[in-house]
Amino acid sequence: MTSSALMATYAPPEILFEKGEGAYLFTKDGDKYLDFISGIAVTAFGHNHPHLVAALKNQADKYWHTSNMFRIESAEKLAERLVVNTFADHVYFGNSGAEAVEAGLKMMRRNHFDQGDEKRTRIIGMKNSFHGRTIATVAAAGNPAHTKGFFDGDLGCDHVPFGDIDALRNMISDKTAGVILEPVQGEGGILPAPKGYLEAVRKLCDETGILMMLDEIQCGMGRTGKLFAYEWSSIEPDILASAKGLGGGFPIGACLATHKASACMVVGTHGSTFGGNPLATTVANAVLDLVLEDGLLDQVTERSNQLKSGLDEVAAKHPTILGATQGLGLMLGIKCLVPNTELLAKLRDARLLTGRAGTDILRLLPPLNLTETHIREALDILDSVCTEIES
Ligand SMILES: *Cc1c(COP(=O)(O)O)cnc(C)c1O
Repeated sequence: MTSSALMATYAPPEILFEKGEGAYLFTKDGDKYLDFISGIAVTAFGHNHPHLVAALKNQADKYWHTSNMFRIESAEKLAERLVVNTFADHVYFGNSGAEAVEAGLKMMRRNHFDQGDEKRTRIIGMKNSFHGRTIATVAAAGNPAHTKGFFDGDLGCDHVPFGDIDALRNMISDKTAGVILEPVQGEGGILPAPKGYLEAVRKLCDETGILMMLDEIQCGMGRTGKLFAYEWSSIEPDILASAKGLGGGFPIGACLATHKASACMVVGTHGSTFGGNPLATTVANAVLDLVLEDGLLDQVTERSNQLKSGLDEVAAKHPTILGATQGLGLMLGIKCLVPNTELLAKLRDARLLTGRAGTDILRLLPPLNLTETHIREALDILDSVCTEIES
């Protein structure tokens, strides 16, 4: 029985994991599961990675927390490294994806306020998007299933279809502060932005003087084969939210921004007790060591190609169950012609952990350092589960 002392916001299956090792999770009874969901793109280097464990233990022996009342060396170092490797000039740390997004939403509004344009408070989000579960982030994403019953009105957010540049152009007004979007929509169904869309959004933002914010909480930190997914385009955002894989399993969120976009965030404008915590930023530095290791990002692309062509082969064998594969790098979705929850449960029974996305997508977010053996094993399980469903 799952514990009824937990609030009923989740409905996990009965399995209880006890330990993890690389791409595998083990139950108390010793049952071994291949983890192709990674805590939703969080354990980017699998479980119990020696470099990450060593970093955490080492910091645990020193000190855990001071708050931002004092300098935090590991946070300064992490911010510096993120700045060196991205478009950003400054970084703000929170403890989750939602907090990273929230910091960016506040920043977009405060920018215009500081420039004397107090009317510019509205944020344009994309339909079918996901930015977290706080009041502001559900408002920005605008999914009625997530906003219903939680607030009055739209909290200053408008929504347009993802990929529709004309709709965005028509929505921008003299009240708009900025636009937020995921370069690859995650929860919405593993949907990469159409080719040229990010460039077109950037151009519109520049022409109208509004800010462009990317939510790379799921698609960032090497997941697509670049450190951040915007690098597949020719643009740079003003603001970017990171989290999930950034901590490799330790909770952390980061809001990256240009100097211009973040100049408004002066002492007293924003903050967090835990943000930049030494344990979190030490582990994130260790994660960054692994992501930036020579060849890792190219390996993500290589494994992605292997996994995609394998998925296409399995789908071709089972055309009544599986459709096309979509996504970028190791953020992949397979269209399901049977209910995705049913397929997911059967795969789990066969010891392969996956996720779902959108209404009919099976979501795969394997560890970035997976091997060809893991891919073979996952494809074999998928193939035999499909055969079982057909019979
Ligand atoms: C998971 C996710 C979030 C929210 O992150 P939390 O850590 O759950 O607050 C926001 N945006 C995207 C794209 C995500 O995938």
